[in-house]
Amino acid sequence: MTAAVSRTGTRVERLPLSRFTTLGVGGEAEVWFVESPEGLAEAMERPYRVLGGGSNLVVSDAGVPERVIRLSGPLAERDLTPDPALSTPECVVTGWVGGGVPLPGLVRQLQKLGLSGLEGTVGIPAQVGGAVWMNAGTRYGEMFDGLHTVEIVTPEGTRQVTPDELPWGYRQSGIPRNHVVTRVRLSLTVSTPGAVLARMDLADQARKGQPKMKTPGCAFKNPGGVSAGKLIDDAGLKGTRVGGALIAPEHANFIVNLGGATAADVHALLDIIRARVGVPLELEYELWPGQGEP
Ligand SMILES: Cc1cc2nc3c(=O)[nH]c(=O)nc-3n(C[C@H](O)[C@H](O)[C@H](O)COP(=O)(O)OP(=O)(O)OC[C@H]3O[C@@H](n4cnc5c(N)ncnc54)[C@H](O)[C@@H]3O)c2cc1C
Repeated sequence: MTAAVSRTGTRVERLPLSRFTTLGVGGEAEVWFVESPEGLAEAMERPYRVLGGGSNLVVSDAGVPERVIRLSGPLAERDLTPDPALSTPECVVTGWVGGGVPLPGLVRQLQKLGLSGLEGTVGIPAQVGGAVWMNAGTRYGEMFDGLHTVEIVTPEGTRQVTPDELPWGYRQSGIPRNHVVTRVRLSLTVSTPGAVLARMDLADQARKGQPKMKTPGCAFKNPGGVSAGKLIDDAGLKGTRVGGALIAPEHANFIVNLGGATAADVHALLDIIRARVGVPLELEYELWPGQGEP
């Protein structure tokens, strides 16, 4: 299908989702490049999914039947101007930052401005909306460290909430699935570019052993505090390959795309890991469609 324009002026295109995932895998879906509240309301009139940076997804080779919402245009722009009514000499509350803004660029920009709060999330290849939805982070900090207001849109309406109105916790915001984080306002501590950079370097150091190839990040959660990577390594699985997918030699909890990998290749590797590691492992990434879904 060539690009079409919907009733509200939203660009709609049937595209391979491999273009939008960090693994570089995924079949076709109807992608709605939503730029306005009206466009979002229209996209939500039929079953939909929300796509962020695609950095926590393994999408089926057959794609997904639902509309895929991609926040674009003004919903992928940022206004970091301090709000004079809410900011103090120590703390800046920004204007609105779109859910479609890539997190790595935002973190770099905040560092240059000497604003502290999100630097612990350095190296996470998410979009702001996806990172808020999962409360992405590292031991050096997480998304909810820097949030003032979160705007959430559902087919029923729009609400703006503060973090203390959400039941957020470790790697979760408490925001139900398919409630769309359209934009946020940030609450940041005034620091210096050098101090923020030093904290970013610490978080960066922790990633040194991770592979640089296309990947959706860690495959499995650490069961009961034991390193999933060590369990997979101990099972002798580093370097195991199926088709174009490989268990990374650098870190066994990462599956990478050598080029031309399919979702079926990745699933085959996940099955091998589950069969060979002696303890039950819970998947870190999300599967599209999920188990039991079409
Ligand atoms: C190399 C690499 C390193 C990583 N390191 C880390 C790490 O250190 N810490 C960490 O926590 N994670 C890490 N991840 C995983 C991933 O980046 C996070 O889980 C991130 O939060 C996913 O965000 P995303 O925008 O890519 O969402 P996607 O992968 O596109 O989607 C994930 C989920 O979020 C939902 N979603 C996306 N956007 C929105 C939105 N606007 N509103 C509502 N829901 C939305 C989707 O519907 C889906 O359910 C890493 C991934 C990679 C590839």
